[in-house]
Amino acid sequence: MLLGSIADDFTGATDLCSMLVRGGMRTVQLIGTPAPDDPVPDADAVVVAIKSRTAPVRWAVEQSLLALDWLRKAGARQYFFKYCSTFDSTDQGNIGPVADALIQALGCGFSLHCPAFPTNGRTVYLGHLFVGGALLNESGMERHPLTPMTDANLVRVLSHQTDGTVGLVGFPAVEKGGNAIRDALTQLKEQGRRHAIVDAVTDAHLIAIGEAAAHHALLGGGSGVAMGLPGNFRRAGLLPEADHAAALPTVSGPTAVLSGSCSRATLAQLGFARSHLPVYELDPLSTPNAAQLAANALAWADGKIGVKPVVIAASAPPDKVAATQSLLGGPDKAGALLEEAMALIAAGLVSRGVRRMVVAGGETSGAVATRLGVKRLRIGAEIDPGVPWTYASGAHALGRSADLLLALKSGNFGATDFFLKAFQMLEGPQTLEGRE
Ligand code: ADP
Repeated sequence: MLLGSIADDFTGATDLCSMLVRGGMRTVQLIGTPAPDDPVPDADAVVVAIKSRTAPVRWAVEQSLLALDWLRKAGARQYFFKYCSTFDSTDQGNIGPVADALIQALGCGFSLHCPAFPTNGRTVYLGHLFVGGALLNESGMERHPLTPMTDANLVRVLSHQTDGTVGLVGFPAVEKGGNAIRDALTQLKEQGRRHAIVDAVTDAHLIAIGEAAAHHALLGGGSGVAMGLPGNFRRAGLLPEADHAAALPTVSGPTAVLSGSCSRATLAQLGFARSHLPVYELDPLSTPNAAQLAANALAWADGKIGVKPVVIAASAPPDKVAATQSLLGGPDKAGALLEEAMALIAAGLVSRGVRRMVVAGGETSGAVATRLGVKRLRIGAEIDPGVPWTYASGAHALGRSADLLLALKSGNFGATDFFLKAFQMLEGPQTLEGRE
């Protein structure tokens, strides 16, 4: 293993995995902190996804250190702390406290931080994070329910979360390239800074930062700054010029889509799917019971499985979501009931032979993966940016074990034709009849 990463949420981890696979690293995502005796996967990079972004600080630190310990024992040569490209955090953490703990455990004294991801409109200039054309604190993120970001100055934001000091490698140095960035990082470290925010406005900047960080034990940031890391390992002769990092074992068998996201992108994807595929919509207003919702959906799917991908959705537009939430006792209760229904449906579909499945929604994906006992995913080719097909061996459903292909899609990701395109990419018998 070359790179060991700790990610503070599930779909963010997958996003990083995709970036590493694109760079030619064979990558496996672990769901939750591995047990000490869990086998080490045969991979160039391992990303441990911990749901720690909004967890209590102490738990986030403890789990991150357990993951680090496992990755060190597995032989990783460099470590990456992956968080959101909008630096989602509060004055309490968890970016600062987790980074501090990792720095201390590694004894490296220092970490650079770069959340920039220009392809997705996230840029950092003179320490200020922009989302598209707006400063972070005017981008809508200032109203985030859990991690409202009311300051775009990341040096200041991170300073509130650490007892160490935070420096800046600004645009003039970054624009000069790898050597200038390396010198600036060394200087900040020698001045006793524990953290450095690094500007980046273009992919070329990200690659230069990656190069400059070749000998740093730890980096923090979004998936963008990982862009330059595979090249370091390749130049050091540790990573072959392989072009099959995205290869997954072939899995044949029936296909399905489970959609629990209510995001605008997912609703548009469902709208598109309706004119091509059979779609069933859960009706929690008339059936406010997870087991009954699942039984109804599975009864609908019986007889349809194996012809075309069956699409089962809890997703609904805002007015219907609001009505469901008020009937079921609030957003959390409604969300939990529908996640439970989707997890039961996933298990029912797998026990009926479904082997290739798209799941839309971060929380929904977490509920489905947990119910199927999926603990690790080998990352394959991207369907759309940030959403790869993945391979899960030995998933469990109703007493049976199966190998699956899963595409776990964060709500906002993917083009409108995502649900069709996902299956068109796959080989093997039986998906869209008449299309392959
Ligand atoms: P996203 O990635 O878009 O945020 P998530 O799956 O993380 O999607 O979150 C969507 C949440 O909304 C889940 O908890 C899901 O159970 C819930 N949900 C899905 N459909 C409905 C609905 N019709 N009414 C209320 N809540 C819903």
